[in-house]
Formats: sequence, C-alpha cells, structure tokens
Amino acid sequence: MFPLKVKYPQGWESILIKSILNREVPPGSLPLDVGVLVSNVGTATAISNAVKLGQPLIERVVSVTGSEIAQPKNLRVRVGTPFSDLIQQCGGFKKAPGKVVSGGPMMGFAIFDANIPVIKGTTNILALSEKEAKAKIRHTCIKCGRCINVCPVGLMPTMIASLSEKGRFDEAEAYYPMDCKECGCCAYICLRRYH
Ligand code: SF4
Ligand code: SF4
Repeated sequence: MFPLKVKYPQGWESILIKSILNREVPPGSLPLDVGVLVSNVGTATAISNAVKLGQPLIERVVSVTGSEIAQPKNLRVRVGTPFSDLIQQCGGFKKAPGKVVSGGPMMGFAIFDANIPVIKGTTNILALSEKEAKAKIRHTCIKCGRCINVCPVGLMPTMIASLSEKGRFDEAEAYYPMDCKECGCCAYICLRRYH
C-alpha cells in the first residue's frame, strides 16, 4: 500500500484506477471492463454487515460542516434522521446560512428544507455563509483553455457548453458529454479567473 497525493477528485474510481494501476477506463465503460472493482470503506463495511450479520444499512457517518455550523462534527446517524437534528447536534447555525448543501462543495446540491431525512447516499451537510453562496456573475468564455487543462476525464467543457448553449446537441455529443462526472473542476477554475 502507498498513499496517493491529496488531490480532488482523486477518490473517483476511474482516477484511482489510473493512479494505482495505470489502466484507463474507456469512455462509456465500467471499471469492471478493465478488471477492477472499486468500493469505498463504508460500502465494504455495509456488505460485510449484510452478509455476515444479516444487518441492513441502517446508519451512516455524516459530516456536518461549513463556515456557518457552530461545532462541525462527524456523526454516526440512523438513516431517516432529519438534517435539522444533525445540525442541532452540532450547535446549530452561527447565523442564517446563505445556502445549505447536501454533499460536498463541488458536487453537492442545495436543499430548500433542513427537515429532509438522511438517506443511504448522504455523506455531508454543508452550511455556507451568505458571501460564499452568492451567485457568481457569468462572463463570456475567453477561450483560455483552463477548463480543458483541469478536466480529470480529458473532456473539452468549453466545446460542450458552447455547442449546447446554441442547441447543437448532436455536435456536442461528439465531445462525450455523458462521460462528465460533474466534478465541477471546470466551473471552479473558470470562475476563479474573475475573482
Ligand atoms: S476556463 Fe472558462 S473562460 Fe477559459 S476556456 Fe474554459 S469556459 Fe472559457
Ligand atoms: S464537471 Fe467539468 S471538469 Fe468535471 S468531468 Fe465534467 S467537464 Fe470535466
């Protein structure tokens, strides 16, 4: 075993396979197609509990974090627990957040009601400040290519975006949009240019 560089999105299965085994998962393929099965620790534990103990997945470890959480923590919680209970367990909000996100800062999605329950896929609750959540002004693409350089899949986000915006979806398909993992690296690097 050897530690990998801490680099987003290193934990992604196709990136892990490339980093550890130097095997490429071709577009539209699964890790199994290159002879690999990737499971995270939580999934491996859940499989073990199901097979050895006959125990279904009834709890998860959820991180409750972000600048507006009073006491950020990792909590082991029952599936079905409302997000609001977890936030309360962490001392509540410091002040009204600008946005509460289910998931991480790059791939999470905003929630409109903190009473939604923890589900099997819940990993993280993130409370952003008003300033952090402020929508960015959209600028015209200046063709700098930074989004292409950072895309871990090797896509051309700028071509996919510009053709899609013009409704030329058939042409956009030639740039493999379905291989996008929605990691957000292209949007992050692009918006950063303007701040
Ligand atoms: S990083 Fe932004 S501005 Fe640069 S090429 Fe990509 S979309 Fe255009
Ligand atoms: S979100 Fe952007 S950087 Fe990430 S895989 Fe999709 S196109 Fe590439």
